[in-house]
Amino acid sequence: MRILRTIPEVRAAIREARGGGAMIGLVPTMGAFHDGHLSLMRAARAGSDLVVVSLFVNPTQFGANEDLTAYPRDEARDAALAEAAGVDILFAPAPSEIYPEGFATNIHVAGLSDVLDGASRGAHHFDGVATVVTKLFGIVRPDTAYFGQKDAQQVLVVRRVVRDLDLDVRIVVCPIVREADGLAMSSRNVYLDPAARVQATALNRALDAGAAVFEAGDAAAGSILSAARDVLGGAGIDPEYLELRDAETLRPLARVDRDALLAVAAHVGAARLIDNHVLRVAEAPNDTETEAGA
Ligand code: AMP
Repeated sequence: MRILRTIPEVRAAIREARGGGAMIGLVPTMGAFHDGHLSLMRAARAGSDLVVVSLFVNPTQFGANEDLTAYPRDEARDAALAEAAGVDILFAPAPSEIYPEGFATNIHVAGLSDVLDGASRGAHHFDGVATVVTKLFGIVRPDTAYFGQKDAQQVLVVRRVVRDLDLDVRIVVCPIVREADGLAMSSRNVYLDPAARVQATALNRALDAGAAVFEAGDAAAGSILSAARDVLGGAGIDPEYLELRDAETLRPLARVDRDALLAVAAHVGAARLIDNHVLRVAEAPNDTETEAGA
């Protein structure tokens, strides 16, 4: 595995690989790797000839009062894990390589960026994500890029950028990887002390409780959200948000009459955590065909 720091080095490596007909896979990350990241790398390894992982703690997606300086960083450990996962290139640039003097462009996806985490953290968050991901696509020009469902709203924002700007990249979304007790893996889980680590399991349990209400036949948002809120409350968690929204447009839903995203964000101990479940509506049977065939 090669560790590259500059854009020209990455471009040269990609040009050479592409010359040989290689399909390029990109996994954008902020490092502090866990099994969630590794699942994306494995998917990229299986689906591409050359696997590029970017490791960049992107300052523009952090707010003034967020954890940019505290964010866990361990490049040597990350490099060893990436190499073991079969990664070919680890692109670990300095902030000045990505944001040189005079950098002035900002990509804002209206609507999708303004709700849920966009409302909690501010629109700058998804602007930072959209802008850096677009830059990474420009640098690496991947055939396929891999993202985790853990950051469901990020996936929707990136997909919209790709569609609106006609970027020639296929987006693959990998399922949420969880600890044995259901806690979604996150680089921020290292902030949890033992008590908070136990408390944090309530996020997934709350989403499970909401999903169970839906699966039992009650599609009303009020019922689903109140079941989830009860579990959070029982664990002493007051969520930053707990919402049910259209899984594609993120418009609020009063009933789950289409695929829905049940999403939560909460401060637990020293960590701000997010998690989500998708509630899927079965395809309605096609009555016309049934009648025509009868
Ligand atoms: P991050 O380093 O937190 O920016 O995450 C890099 C990528 O890994 C993003 O596409 C995340 O959605 C994905 N990811 C993070 N945690 C998980 C997880 N528990 N399961 C699946 N993917 C994840």
